[in-house]
Amino acid sequence: MSLARLHHAELPTVATHRWLLAGVMLTVLALGWKYPLLGFVVPLAMLAGMAGGALRGRYVCGNLCPRGSFFDTFFARFAPRREIPAKLFAMPLRWLITAGLMSFMVYQLAQNPGSLNHWGLVFWQMCLITTAAALLLGVLYRPRTWCAICPVGTIANAAGGNKRHLTIADSCRSCRLCEKACPMGHNIADFKSQGAMLDHDCLQCSLCVKVCPKGALGIEKPVSTACQVPAQPAKDELRKAA
Ligand code: SF4
Ligand code: SF4
Repeated sequence: MSLARLHHAELPTVATHRWLLAGVMLTVLALGWKYPLLGFVVPLAMLAGMAGGALRGRYVCGNLCPRGSFFDTFFARFAPRREIPAKLFAMPLRWLITAGLMSFMVYQLAQNPGSLNHWGLVFWQMCLITTAAALLLGVLYRPRTWCAICPVGTIANAAGGNKRHLTIADSCRSCRLCEKACPMGHNIADFKSQGAMLDHDCLQCSLCVKVCPKGALGIEKPVSTACQVPAQPAKDELRKAA
């Protein structure tokens, strides 16, 4: 995996609505301390991610999340493209982080349960803390490193990560340009023989689809039952096999 930043000309085009969503995230972060009700954007985004997760896996993460949009638009221009450590994708660690952050948030909300302003400030603070952690991880590894451990992403992975996949056609030449563009750094070409990227953390963002010179990639329609698709292979197994 390349350690280099992508040159601006190599970055896949990101849809206009995602620049607007990135602007929403920046507005909430910049003004939430003064206008606490802006903080309620945070639980709205969390609920959308969790409900969407049951239907389409991490589709909301890759297409509608304000913070994810910030990573793919502004932050992708500066962050490196190193491989995200496989340990961060381990579900026990992710559930631990989810439980810890959710408990902390509930505890903070309970300090003043009748005040909407207090709740808004708590949501804003949670957003500030986790975004600071996300920026640090992004500077160390890759723009979307946080998305490996994000509680909403963990729930979406578990609830419906097997519902929709990136398909890989035989025309794939294993050049791995798609992997360079992937904000999660998924090993897409390693799944070629299976015809689809089976990683439940695929965000379905289609950024890889845009850069493939062979037009080998596409996002499939949602499948009706979970038993139609194989289980997600372990990341470290795939890396060993590659
Ligand atoms: S960019 Fe296209 S051809 Fe190259 S590895 Fe990815 S899917 Fe295959
Ligand atoms: S594999 Fe493609 S669709 Fe999935 S997260 Fe990576 S770039 Fe987005």
